[in-house]
Amino acid sequence: MRSTVIHGAGDVRLETRPDPVIVEPTDAIVRTVATCVCGSDLWRYRGIGDVPEPVAIGHEYCGIVEQVGADVRNVRIGQFVIGGFYHSDNTCPTCRKGAQANCPNGGGYDGCQAELIRIPNADGTLVATPELPSEAQIPDLLTLSDVMGTGWHAAVSAGVGPGMSVVVVGDGAVGLCAVLAAAQLGAEQVIAMSRHEARQKLAVEFGATAIIAERDEAGAAKVRELTEGIGADAVLECVGTEGARLQALACARPGATIGTVGLPHGELPAAKLFWRNVGLAGGPAPVRAYLPQLMELVLAGRIHPGKVFDLELPLAEVAEAYAAMDSRRAIKVLLRP
Ligand SMILES: [Zn+2]
Repeated sequence: MRSTVIHGAGDVRLETRPDPVIVEPTDAIVRTVATCVCGSDLWRYRGIGDVPEPVAIGHEYCGIVEQVGADVRNVRIGQFVIGGFYHSDNTCPTCRKGAQANCPNGGGYDGCQAELIRIPNADGTLVATPELPSEAQIPDLLTLSDVMGTGWHAAVSAGVGPGMSVVVVGDGAVGLCAVLAAAQLGAEQVIAMSRHEARQKLAVEFGATAIIAERDEAGAAKVRELTEGIGADAVLECVGTEGARLQALACARPGATIGTVGLPHGELPAAKLFWRNVGLAGGPAPVRAYLPQLMELVLAGRIHPGKVFDLELPLAEVAEAYAAMDSRRAIKVLLRP
């Protein structure tokens, strides 16, 4: 089978690797229908994350179950399934509390930008659609593997609810999904910080009530203008850089909560949070916890997070997919094996 391997900064290649096989009786093998490149894959592509040796890459997927191990009960061969960017057993005490991203029996995959994927913990990881989805639903469903679940987690972590004012820092796919999540969860004001016209438009389509193009103190001042001079009730930090984390703090009102889902590459001083009574919550999203609810919203046609895919390429052009996202020519690239 063909699978994407990262060799180092700026160097991803589609290579032939052995087909994955059932190793544990709880495994399944999924034939990928669609996969994609994640903003977090770019950390290594840009040389910010280490690549000590060539390694299979990608962690977002949806596809058709091709094989199941002897102990798999919840999914069958032929079903269309989605799994989160980590696998989890969904039965241990941690998972039962809804923290599946921290399942002690879970972990990552051996690369999902591939034609076939071995899914450990298949019963706890995969969620099947009731019937085979239409072509048009595939992009929406694929986002539930990571970006939509991650944006949702930012909003849930920050306690977003009806009537609240929410600022979203970051206009990548996760930030845009966080806008959609905040609107779905009933926020009255959803303020998206973005200076890119195409992303601003999509943010408005997803429910943003205001766009702020300014950054740093000028951006925070604009937020205060919209929030009775005090800042937002909740801030969703969807980037992870120190600049984004400090921007989130600057936009938060006293007593606010920051929901953070960007891979942290910077500090957020605890003393600054303390003196302003600002809480910090979030982390890697327990996508599995949100998958059934978000799948229902997608299948009912109530949300279309798949609009974050503004470029679709065959898997053979995976190197171009990385280059397009790296240069911000594309928000997010959908890959078809
Ligand atoms: Zn678990």
